[in-house]
Amino acid sequence: MLLSKPKIIRGGVRTEPRKQPTAESPLEPLRARQRLYVSLAQHIGAPALPAVAPGEHVTKGQRIGTPEAGLSAAVHAPTSGRVVAVDRHPAPHPSGLTVPTVVLDPDGEEQWSETLPEPLTAPARQIDPATIAARVGEAGIVGMGGAAFPAAVKLGAGQPVATLILNGGECEPYLTCDDRLMRERAAGIIDGAQLMARALGAERTAIGVEDNKPEAIHALRRASDALGGPDVVPVPSLWPQGSEKHLIYTLTGREVPAGARAGDIGVVVHNVGTAYAVHRAARHGRPLISRPVTVGGGAVAEPGNFEAPLGLPLQALIEQAGGLREPPARVLAGGPMMGQVAPLEAAVAKGTNGVIALTATEIREAEGRPCIRCGRCVDACPMGLMPFDIANRAAAGDVDGAAATGLMDCLTCGSCAYVCPSARPLVQLFHYARGQLAEQATAKQRSELQRRMAEQRAERQRREQERKKAAAAARRKQRAQQKAASSETDPPAQEQPVDEEKETQT
Ligand code: SF4
Ligand code: SF4
Repeated sequence: MLLSKPKIIRGGVRTEPRKQPTAESPLEPLRARQRLYVSLAQHIGAPALPAVAPGEHVTKGQRIGTPEAGLSAAVHAPTSGRVVAVDRHPAPHPSGLTVPTVVLDPDGEEQWSETLPEPLTAPARQIDPATIAARVGEAGIVGMGGAAFPAAVKLGAGQPVATLILNGGECEPYLTCDDRLMRERAAGIIDGAQLMARALGAERTAIGVEDNKPEAIHALRRASDALGGPDVVPVPSLWPQGSEKHLIYTLTGREVPAGARAGDIGVVVHNVGTAYAVHRAARHGRPLISRPVTVGGGAVAEPGNFEAPLGLPLQALIEQAGGLREPPARVLAGGPMMGQVAPLEAAVAKGTNGVIALTATEIREAEGRPCIRCGRCVDACPMGLMPFDIANRAAAGDVDGAAATGLMDCLTCGSCAYVCPSARPLVQLFHYARGQLAEQATAKQRSELQRRMAEQRAERQRREQERKKAAAAARRKQRAQQKAASSETDPPAQEQPVDEEKETQT
C-alpha cells in the first residue's frame, strides 16, 4: 500500500547539497578513445569468467565475461577493439585490491556486435516476465545506485512482490547524474519501470524523487502521464532518504525488520538508472556498457555529468572534466557520505555514480576529541541507534558489545559523524569493529573446519581399526573352520595291536 502522504524518516541530516556546480550540466556521452580496464568483478557475487583472450578483436557489446553459476553478472565490451590482456587491475576501493580485468585498446570504430538480441517491441504487459528477467541478465545489468547487485536475480527471485519502488533520491551531496538522467531520459525510465513491474508481478509502482529536484519530478510525471506509468512521489530532501529501508518507510509506512530484506515484506527497490538500463536492454537490445557519472568536487576544473564507458580510468574521466585545478586532498568513487577513496588508476564500474575530487578545505579534517555526550549523534541516527555507545565499545576493543548494541544494523550513512561536535571518527570505528567481527567469524569458521576435519580423521582411523579387527577375526575363524574341516576328512588312526600279556597283567 502506498501512502497518500510520505512519512518523514527518523533522524537524518540536512547536508550541504553542493549540487549546483553540476546540476545544470547535461549528460555528455564519452567515446572510448583510450585503454579501458573492464573489471570482471563489478558486481556483488562471483566475478565473471573471462570469455576472451589477449590478442582477440572484440565488437562493441560483445560478451567478454560470462557470469559464474549463482550470484554473478555478465560483462560486455564497451567498444570495439583489441584485448591486450586479461589481468588484475586496482578496484575503485581504498584497499587498492586488484580484481580480474579485461584490458581493451579501442580501435575507434565503435563497431557494434552483430549478435545482440532483437528489441522487444510489445507493450510491457504483453511480454513474458521470464523473458524480461532473462534479457536483464543477458545485458549484465546490476543495481546502478551503487549497490551493484545483479538486477536479474532481484527480478527473477520468485518471491511475491506487491510494490516496486524506484529510487530517484540521489541525496548524496555533489551527485547529480541521476537528476540529469531523470530530466533527460524520463520516458526510458518509465518504460523500464513498467518492464520491471511486469517481471516482478508487482501490483503497484512508485518513483520516489527528492523534492529538491523539481525538473526531474516534472519530466517523470509528464512521461508517466503519456505512458500510463507509475506514480511519481516527491520525498523530503534529507540524508539518507535514499537508503532502501528509509525510502520504503517514507512511501509505504512499513519498516523492514532488522536482519530482514525488503523482499521479505513484498517490496523491491531499484535505482532509476537501473530502470533506464532495463529499457535499453529490452527496447534496443543493448547490454550495460556505460553509465552516468558525476565528476565534481572543488579540485575539478570543469565539473560535469558524463555517460562514461565502463572501464575508463578515473584519471581519464577527470581529464574529460577539464582536469584538476589543484591537487586533490581525496578522490572518491561515489559521493562524500558513502563513497570510497579510490586510486586514480581505478576504472569506472557499473556501480560508480560519481568521481569526486575534494580539496583540503572541503574535507572536515578536524582532530577527533573525546565524546561530550551531547546526544546529537543519537538524534541524527536514522536507525534509532546510539552511535556514541557503539563507537565507545568499538574503541575499547569490545566488538561483541558493539554488535550487541546494533553495529550490524548501522547503514554507515555517516549522519552521526556529520553532526558530531567532537569530530569523532564514528564511521571509521564502525568499519573497524565490523572488520574485527568479520575476522573473528573467519577464524571461528577456520577452527570449526579444523575441528570437523580432526573428527573426520579420528572417525576414519576408528573405522580402519575396526576393519582390521574384523579382518583378523575373519581370518582366525576361517583358519579354525579349515582346521575343523581337515580333521573331519583325515583317515581314522590305525588300531594298535593289543599286547595280550599286558592285558592279562592288569
Ligand atoms: S555527537 Fe559526538 S560528542 Fe555528541 S554524543 Fe555523539 S559521539 Fe559524543
Ligand atoms: S550509527 Fe550508523 S546508521 Fe546511525 S547515523 Fe551513524 S552511521 Fe548512520
